[in-house]
Amino acid sequence: MATNKKALLIDITKCIGCQACAGACKEAHGVTGDPEPKLSETALTVVQDKNGKFVRKQCLHCEQPACGSACLVGAITKTAAGPVVYDKSKCVGCRYCMIACPHSVPRYEWSKLAPYMKKCDMCYDKRVSKGQPTACAEACPVGATIFGDRDEMLREARRRILDDPKYVPHIYGEREYGGASMLFLSDVEFEKLGFMIPPTEAPLPEVSKAALDEAPMVVLVGGTMLAGLYWITNRRREVLLAEAQKKTLKFPVGDEEERS
Ligand code: SF4
Ligand code: SF4
Repeated sequence: MATNKKALLIDITKCIGCQACAGACKEAHGVTGDPEPKLSETALTVVQDKNGKFVRKQCLHCEQPACGSACLVGAITKTAAGPVVYDKSKCVGCRYCMIACPHSVPRYEWSKLAPYMKKCDMCYDKRVSKGQPTACAEACPVGATIFGDRDEMLREARRRILDDPKYVPHIYGEREYGGASMLFLSDVEFEKLGFMIPPTEAPLPEVSKAALDEAPMVVLVGGTMLAGLYWITNRRREVLLAEAQKKTLKFPVGDEEERS
């Protein structure tokens, strides 16, 4: 069945490691500084050299995101267009999303006094929701990252695999963990490039639901209470910070904007 979901197709055989995608991502998210080797609160997509192959790492925008299913307050949701987005106004800072993500993607703003979670948003607000491609796809000079309808990206990936025997006959992200909006092609087995190969194609929320059904109620209630307590503590800290700033104490530039 055809859908209007968008996706990125990242062809590792075409990537030249120029870092244009990582740079464009920083610019699109208002971050200065050089591309970084690892994901961080200021690097939402990175390009890593894996024995001469350049591999992009960022949120995969899972069809049924484990991060969203772990979030007790609904701060992370999958949009109908494909991107998995984060609403910081709902976040209580429990960091369950970081533990739940099988790809270790979400990062936390440890450097901030009032931290939030950071991950690739697939340029949803600024570009994709307005019909534009992601900044990384637009910046790629060799077409190693392309953007379009997920169905079309899958057709294109299959066409490349059929046309050229160099490709591993596997589209990573088509089915893993229930599928994703980031699709990869490679001429090297994905596990050799550090990709997680799940033991089942079932979406992680289904796997974790089965486990949660077995969990004692006290654990679930305890977790919810902890998140609530954290929210209260966090809000109190934000209020104290705001009051302190009013009294002209110095805090890192931009924090007030971050919290608004
Ligand atoms: S890759 Fe991780 S952070 Fe991204 S949607 Fe999937 S579970 Fe969430
Ligand atoms: S811009 Fe394209 S070629 Fe350059 S590192 Fe990113 S994906 Fe690879």
